[in-house]
Amino acid sequence: MPDTSLAIAVHETFAEPHSPRRFKVFTARQIDRIGPLQELDEETRFAMKVVASVLPFRVNEYVIEELIDWSKVPEDPIYQLTFPQKGMLAPHHFDKVAAALRGGDKAQIDATVAEVRDALNPHPAGQLEHNIPEVDGEKIDGIQHKYNETVLFFPSQGQVCHSYCTFCFRWAQFIGDNDLKIATKEAGQLKRYVQAHPKITDILITGGDPLVMKTKNLRAHIEPLLELQQIRTIRIGSKALTFWPHRFVSDDDADDLLDLFRQVAAAGKHLALMAHYNHWKELEPAIARAAIQKVRDTGAQIRAQGPLLAHINDNADDWARLWQTQVELGIVPYYLFVERDTGARHYFEVPLARAWHIYRDAMQQVSGLARTARGPSMSCHPGKVEIQGITEIHGEKVFVLRMIQGRNPDWVQRPFFARYDEQATWLNHLRPAFGESRFFFEQVLAAGSD
Ligand SMILES: *Cc1c(COP(=O)(O)O)cnc(C)c1O
Repeated sequence: MPDTSLAIAVHETFAEPHSPRRFKVFTARQIDRIGPLQELDEETRFAMKVVASVLPFRVNEYVIEELIDWSKVPEDPIYQLTFPQKGMLAPHHFDKVAAALRGGDKAQIDATVAEVRDALNPHPAGQLEHNIPEVDGEKIDGIQHKYNETVLFFPSQGQVCHSYCTFCFRWAQFIGDNDLKIATKEAGQLKRYVQAHPKITDILITGGDPLVMKTKNLRAHIEPLLELQQIRTIRIGSKALTFWPHRFVSDDDADDLLDLFRQVAAAGKHLALMAHYNHWKELEPAIARAAIQKVRDTGAQIRAQGPLLAHINDNADDWARLWQTQVELGIVPYYLFVERDTGARHYFEVPLARAWHIYRDAMQQVSGLARTARGPSMSCHPGKVEIQGITEIHGEKVFVLRMIQGRNPDWVQRPFFARYDEQATWLNHLRPAFGESRFFFEQVLAAGSD
């Protein structure tokens, strides 16, 4: 019989110090009630209110008390990850909104905020139009289907997160305008859609954060999928392991959630928890590690992904430590993304050339087991484009690129080349190398984002 005493002991040491914390969250209207912010000057708090009136803001007490090192503010990465900073709006946008807020006229504020939001590319080219499937000519809300084998599902109760990331590429979903949301209320629709598309093997349940949902609601979405032979993998995209690990440890329905994960495994499917991580500090609290252990004990696999971001993680040492720690905790590093062309992108973006140097330097610091993160990867309209390297071919300095995922399956794994450009931060800044007039995928599509 296997000796389980160690496993049990480990659980107890992890679980004991955490009396169940009650989830308490602050939004833009409650900025003045966040204790540690009172130590900052009035101007900083006002700047925060200006930015938070344009971009979504939401942070919970666990993040404030356990993840942010307030002695390191404003540089602390988790503070940058969750708290609005003045530089997140362009100066002319910031000044406009600040003036409107000082003026105090509600209609004027609303109009100014709407105008600035519109200028921030709220739906990186075509998110709402291009990938939304239709059945009998009718659009199905809450489903995105871009790559043959994987369908994205946005359950309507999962359209919020335990805290918001300042760089979120889906920020426009969270500003209370229902027209902008992509969500569904109907679980049955997804099943019918999948059955009509036999190539679908993976469901990616995403949001927001689907783990904001009560387990019984999540179960209502997942259980019908377990009956489908064609479904091999269920992925859940979530940042709960960072923002609210109590979800897996001490919430009322934490055990029920873990049972649901076991149920997926028992049905012969793979459950992949696609965990969003930006910094190794997110992995440090004992409760975060207890949550990881509990998820792994169900047979689910945690895979980690996240973007490379100025002000948060734009250096190789932090990535090497993040990946190495993940491997030690049984998490598989999966993707390193390029910050998308939306929202506060000008604050967070890193030139593709620099991103590749950071990626490469981080890879060189770890062993092969931690080198499973592909990237830097751009999720653009034609597919996921990876920067494989920078080199010189016949005297021309070029980016070597690869299509990791393609709107057209025939594009997958195709290498291609772009002229080197030190400033470029997105695919639409790149031009084909060797005097060619277009990239191979541009016969059909423009090179916008998603
Ligand atoms: C990344 C992504 C997927 C999943 O791609 P994998 O390479 O299989 O992880 C699916 N749909 C969309 C829209 C994506 O951006």
